[in-house]
Amino acid sequence: MRNRDGRRLSEEEYLMEQESLAARAAGRVADALKKTSEENRYLRTVLAPFAGLLMEQARWKAELPETEAGNALAPDATRFGNGIPVTDRQSLICLGDLWKEAAERLVPPFADGFAEVADGLRRLQYAILKGGFDPDSYWSRVLKNRNAAVPDEVRAIGLEPEVLQFALIQLAKPVVERRAEGLQPLIKSLTWNKGYCPICGSLPELSLLKGKEGHRWLRCAFCAGEWRFHRTTCPNCESQKPDDIELCYVEGREHERVELCHNCMTYVVSVDVRTLADEIVPEVARLGLLHLDAIAQRREFRPMNPTGWTKSAPAGAAADEASGRASGASGGTMLH
Ligand SMILES: [Zn+2]
Ligand SMILES: [Zn+2]
Repeated sequence: MRNRDGRRLSEEEYLMEQESLAARAAGRVADALKKTSEENRYLRTVLAPFAGLLMEQARWKAELPETEAGNALAPDATRFGNGIPVTDRQSLICLGDLWKEAAERLVPPFADGFAEVADGLRRLQYAILKGGFDPDSYWSRVLKNRNAAVPDEVRAIGLEPEVLQFALIQLAKPVVERRAEGLQPLIKSLTWNKGYCPICGSLPELSLLKGKEGHRWLRCAFCAGEWRFHRTTCPNCESQKPDDIELCYVEGREHERVELCHNCMTYVVSVDVRTLADEIVPEVARLGLLHLDAIAQRREFRPMNPTGWTKSAPAGAAADEASGRASGASGGTMLH
């Protein structure tokens, strides 16, 4: 067996290394959650329910073997250059037997954090483990036809369709992200200049300014793949008119912004990581910006990719506090 650096290991060494990688990954998430909660007191109630789930997702992802890259073929450079992604969401979220492991590992911390849907999540877990519900065929139906009739086994779980989809995406996330990571080397040397993900075709949930040159990177809402994109272009409608794009931020936290596009009325939240002392943990950073989602949505902008996080109710209260805190200083809630 070989580790991720290609070093040959005995099975025992391999397991020990996997275990310590997994513990470190969960620890990074825990540290970032703690720090974000300390910095933004008003986000504490928003972040707390996600803590157990995010840590277990990080742990499992670190334990998953990198199996996909070896089997996948590099995309055709011309097709790729014309904006055809490497794969699609359905292929990434088709988990087969791994759904059982996902349900076993991730439903308990998920249900602990979200009491109001805990019973439904447990019914979902039971249905997956006992074979009464097959998420793969569910996804193939839903991704083909959004308005497909709801089958009885899905109705019996008793979760709203939106909540069910959000829950399944959360259960699959570690595998989806690991698969996407495995595909990344195939496109390393190819050019991509679209606002949607080169791996799976989804729109971004987060924009990051990084590096000495301040390049803009977009992070996929579905597979967490990252790609470079023009700094001043809207990823959704590709408008480049400076008048279309508005940046909002709360005073005192200028490195966190929401980028509003007045042409297509969507937004994406963003972080300028160049000014930060610590390395960013994107999944925590994304949640730490939910107050900006609330501010944008109050102005009738839609999230570029509605991920489910964006509907998190306590964020409204966080937005109130963020706005209130900022308005005292300069008479305006935000600078544009
Ligand atoms: Zn993607
Ligand atoms: Zn736009």
